[in-house]
Amino acid sequence: MISVKHLAQALEDWAPLAFQADYDNSGLLVGDPSQAVTGVLVALDVTEEVILEAVEKGCNVVLTHHPIIFKGLKRLTGRTEVERCVMLALRHHVALYAAHTNLDSIEGGVSHALAERLGVSGLQILEPRNSSLFELTVFTPEAQAAEVAEGLFAAGAGKIGAYDECHFSVAGTGTFRPLEGAQPHTGKVGERSAVHELRQSFLVPAEARSAVQAALEACHPYEVVAHSWVAVENTRTDVGYGVVGELAQPMAWNDFVQHVKTTLGLTALRHSPVCRDQVQRVALCGGAGVDLLPLAIAQKADVYLTADITYHRYFEAKNALVMMDVGHWESEQFTIELLADYIRRKFPNFAVLTTTSVTNPMITI
Ligand SMILES: [Zn+2]
Repeated sequence: MISVKHLAQALEDWAPLAFQADYDNSGLLVGDPSQAVTGVLVALDVTEEVILEAVEKGCNVVLTHHPIIFKGLKRLTGRTEVERCVMLALRHHVALYAAHTNLDSIEGGVSHALAERLGVSGLQILEPRNSSLFELTVFTPEAQAAEVAEGLFAAGAGKIGAYDECHFSVAGTGTFRPLEGAQPHTGKVGERSAVHELRQSFLVPAEARSAVQAALEACHPYEVVAHSWVAVENTRTDVGYGVVGELAQPMAWNDFVQHVKTTLGLTALRHSPVCRDQVQRVALCGGAGVDLLPLAIAQKADVYLTADITYHRYFEAKNALVMMDVGHWESEQFTIELLADYIRRKFPNFAVLTTTSVTNPMITI
């Protein structure tokens, strides 16, 4: 039996919740984690139609990119679309799970999926993350230091880019005095002890922090483990929003526009004044990514493709590149297959379907 909890864990191994934006609300939003999964329906948005489609098709999980609950709920009376969706899901025992900005942030995530469809390759993350690392320092008796390092490595500490098992240690002397009620690993209650210890330091990716803390408590010999967590601002090039890369061949402007329209199934799109005859270097961000424009300019992209660009923001392109708004749903539509593919590969045990309803609330003609 695969439970909703197993499904959530598999999703979070791939798109860790630690990568979501502060304002976001990704993860399991509605439903019993212990419920057995009968099938998963994948969509971009939760709507009443999507939940009813899931029920009709025997799926008791709706997996979406956008979280249905975003700002918190203070009542459930069916006055708003959000309240009605939550009530409907509860009534039919359908779990609602969202992978939002965490899925935007991983390699192979939302923007990568869009880039792949557009034939943009050699991708780099446009806005690499600089706050998803910690340094863990722990003081360990020399005799147990190797064992503690092994335990922490196994939990994900010391993994940096294409390297793992990274750590640094330096020897010194630690002192402590166990008080009444303590059960010290070494030393006596009421007496100060001095122990040869190693001060061990590990970089820990944010997504591994809780597993590493649990491993530390499990494998360290001390009753009270002397340790500290410090947030590190180093940049991670494997996590962040948006991507930049190249088309295999330069394309004439008109051909590029047609290529985008055909690939995304668009009847229309918006762009800033055309300042390129040809396009090869393309920056893009699925969804509302206009704040990444300066990074796209710094990357010398010919085009920055995203969505939800408002009037005044178009002035900011300033002939440095062409800004293009392809629509929010349109820029994220391939996320549905991305999520479905991942779940299908992980769990052959149940059906993973993609919604037949187009949830896009913005109609362009
Ligand atoms: Zn979105």
